[in-house]
Amino acid sequence: MSALSELYDSCVIPTYARFDLDIESGSGARVRDVQGREYLDFGAGIAVCSLGHAHPAVTEAVARQAATLVHCSNLYRSGPQALLARRLVEITGPGKVFLCNSGAEANEGLIKLARKAGSANGRFEIITFENSFHGRTLAAIAATGQDKVKAGFSPLPEGFVHARFNDLDSVARAVSPRTVAILVEPVQGEGGIHVAQPDFLRGLRALCRERDLLLMFDEVQCGLGRTGDLCGWRSIAADMQPDAVSWAKGIANGVPLGAFWASSRQWQNEPLCDILGPGTHGTTYGGNPLGCAAALAVLSVIEKEGLCDAARRMGQILREGLERATGREVRGLGLMLGLVLPEGVVARDAVVALQRRGLLAIPAGNSVVRFLPPLNVTKAEIEEAIRLVQEVFDFDIPAARG
Ligand code: PLP
Repeated sequence: MSALSELYDSCVIPTYARFDLDIESGSGARVRDVQGREYLDFGAGIAVCSLGHAHPAVTEAVARQAATLVHCSNLYRSGPQALLARRLVEITGPGKVFLCNSGAEANEGLIKLARKAGSANGRFEIITFENSFHGRTLAAIAATGQDKVKAGFSPLPEGFVHARFNDLDSVARAVSPRTVAILVEPVQGEGGIHVAQPDFLRGLRALCRERDLLLMFDEVQCGLGRTGDLCGWRSIAADMQPDAVSWAKGIANGVPLGAFWASSRQWQNEPLCDILGPGTHGTTYGGNPLGCAAALAVLSVIEKEGLCDAARRMGQILREGLERATGREVRGLGLMLGLVLPEGVVARDAVVALQRRGLLAIPAGNSVVRFLPPLNVTKAEIEEAIRLVQEVFDFDIPAARG
């Protein structure tokens, strides 16, 4: 047992079934453990380190901002928050942005936005989806369409109804006079990498228009470049626009930051993005200059280095290589890919086998292994990862060969 593992056992609340790996440092697409062994990191902190570890542009932006102003409170204005909000509006569309600290908090913001929007006429229900994942706060687990995250936490906030993903009829049946919004991940991540069909997203848009509902996208995992577009849904249906979007994870390369955008469309008598007025919502840390400076650096590198395009190209190489090496189905978009394991092979076991050979990947449910490398991953790194996956399939989990 390592010294770190003993400390975790004695001092850290055991909410995670952690892998037996003590990580010390990282650079690009690689991390190093405390013994100095290197791993190719195709999890990137669960889709967080979009530019890889210790990217010089982020390091420099964080160091510069840390030496200038880390925090000043949301009682005052600060440049990085305003500049980041402007950049996110440019990326998404006319509207405004609220900055917070995590994905769950960004989704809490969307939920509050929807509740406030519906409050004038008694509407509060939000339709979410089976197999979805929206975070770990009480409202976010109520929104999540997986029983395992809710067990033991009743009573949960009411007002969430789960429909079937990619099934428009089931959504239409779930709409009631109390419904105010639909919240959906364009690509379900934790649920096993399920991509929404273009007609499903377009159908949701049409249904929301018809029934006067808000269409809200949870892009916490799939947003900001991962699918090959800064707006993940545009990789699926480029011709549509939601009413609100949440982000976190890849936004600041690991500096904790979340955000949500609300459009400027009219809702009753005011723009949707002005519904949450003074005193209705807040956060002490959210939008602090440090996180915002990191996010501005991330978005600038993604744009300057063409990393959306790279995610599409490299994603295609990784997908084809994984399919070739394993003979299995690979789902997903860009660099958000899920390898579907054969029956009898447990995702966690496959991930441990990959780790032993020097590759970090992430389980998604029990039967899918997720690959979420940095957006600037190289072809050589992808080829190395494919070789390691092939070795695992050939030698470590022969059951995988059927
Ligand atoms: N939404 C989605 C789609 C996610 O994948 C996650 C995290 O995995 C969350 C929300 C929650 O984000 P956080 O862990 O930053 O609260």
